[in-house]
Amino acid sequence: MDRAARQIALKQIGTAGQERIDNSTVLIIGLGGIGCATASYLACAGVGQLLLCDFDSVDATNLGRQTLYGPSDIGDFKAVRAASRLAAMNPDVRLTEIPERLSDAAMAEAIDQADVVLDCCDNFSTRFQVNAAAVDRETQLVSGAAIRFEGQVSVFGPDYGTSPCYRCLYREADETLEDCSGNGVLGPVPGVVGCMMAVEALKFLSGIETRPGRLHLYDALASEWRTVTVRKSRNCPTCRGT
Ligand SMILES: [Zn+2]
Repeated sequence: MDRAARQIALKQIGTAGQERIDNSTVLIIGLGGIGCATASYLACAGVGQLLLCDFDSVDATNLGRQTLYGPSDIGDFKAVRAASRLAAMNPDVRLTEIPERLSDAAMAEAIDQADVVLDCCDNFSTRFQVNAAAVDRETQLVSGAAIRFEGQVSVFGPDYGTSPCYRCLYREADETLEDCSGNGVLGPVPGVVGCMMAVEALKFLSGIETRPGRLHLYDALASEWRTVTVRKSRNCPTCRGT
């Protein structure tokens, strides 16, 4: 109760909203810089269960921005080390480690357990896979990405019949887009993205209205945020006809 006191004090959340947060399950895909930030805040905020999915292990080049890991974690699975650190932050959260790359069937199964899925991964093929499963299971998706001095956050669903999905925004050809390893990233930029994703997830879980179908773009060099509306694509191979 003490932990959640400042959140319960918000009239938009209150005891009822906090109870919904306490009883919720969040699936986090990717435990890099974005996933570390979002998982930390969701654990501290009292989310009942976190499903932590990342097949990768900790590398020395991760330590500049992936705040759940230290030098002694190098070589260990991120999902395992993240769970251990998050358990120390809040022993009341149930933590499920998923240190593997999920098949489509396993992804659908994981999403079925979750009230909201947070896509914090770093590649388009996984993003499309997560999105397809979220559309199929009618689950809210919060998506985030960061590179160089740029970040983006978008919220989709759970009503994909009228609102767009992540795939409406990007085509297959975009898959060749870059990642942090080749292009660099300023350490806290993924943290900004992950924190905003946690905000959107907590709003949804506590019953506060969210605004799906909008893409928020952060330009750290210009110190600016910009928001654009995502149109539902008539040709989207994922959400067309849902
Ligand atoms: Zn779509």
